[in-house]
Amino acid sequence: MSLADLEHAAILLRDHLGADTGSAIDCRGDSTGPDMTSVWTIVVELVLNRRSRSTQTPVPENSPLSEAAACSKLSTLELAALLEKSRLSTRLAAPLAALARWWADTVSVPDPDDASVGDRRDQLPWEVRRKRASRSLETVRGVSRELGERIRLFALGEPVVPVSRAAQRVFCRHGWLDLQSEYDDWQSTLSRWAESCDLDRRQITLWLDELGSRWCGPKPKCDECPLNDLLPRGGPYELNGE
Ligand code: SF4
Repeated sequence: MSLADLEHAAILLRDHLGADTGSAIDCRGDSTGPDMTSVWTIVVELVLNRRSRSTQTPVPENSPLSEAAACSKLSTLELAALLEKSRLSTRLAAPLAALARWWADTVSVPDPDDASVGDRRDQLPWEVRRKRASRSLETVRGVSRELGERIRLFALGEPVVPVSRAAQRVFCRHGWLDLQSEYDDWQSTLSRWAESCDLDRRQITLWLDELGSRWCGPKPKCDECPLNDLLPRGGPYELNGE
């Protein structure tokens, strides 16, 4: 894989899909951090939506789902009932319940072991809470590595790119990486793409999501796809099992 291929891909994707990461909040913020309700709303949206903007499901209005504190007090069964009422999949109740507890433990509640904050224990700087939340995310039950990366990228502002099935399909079919590549190789390649083309990692993720949902699914529709010009001679490489 050459950087020239990825730079060409960025130009084609920008031309065909535009560049729009939506009304992104500044997840890093200052010492007080961004509006916490907005950040939690992003977390819930990421759980509700695994795919592109075209299938985006918003958090239902006036629902306790939009309040982390309210969610953390509900059992998984109660959350499932709430989701069912909004015609959403009840299978999302378990990860949502676990994330609400993670939020209460790492984002909302002061760290009782951190003596350095003295009298300001109830106002730990956002940066401290953000880092603590990011570190502990992989221990949250029911949250896959990909969902964790999406939360770290879109809600916590970490410099990662989720290694989604769509990303794997696009990169493997073009011969840029293969399914046997180590996870670190995926991260470094996707990051190199972002840095060399001066791209927001959220933008790359949204482009890959859209490629996956519109063209590069289990049966690739290469004739209609913006990346058709970048296919290897002879067409896309086969993916094992598809
Ligand atoms: S050209 Fe084909 S293989 Fe490449 S991203 Fe599009 S659909 Fe996938």
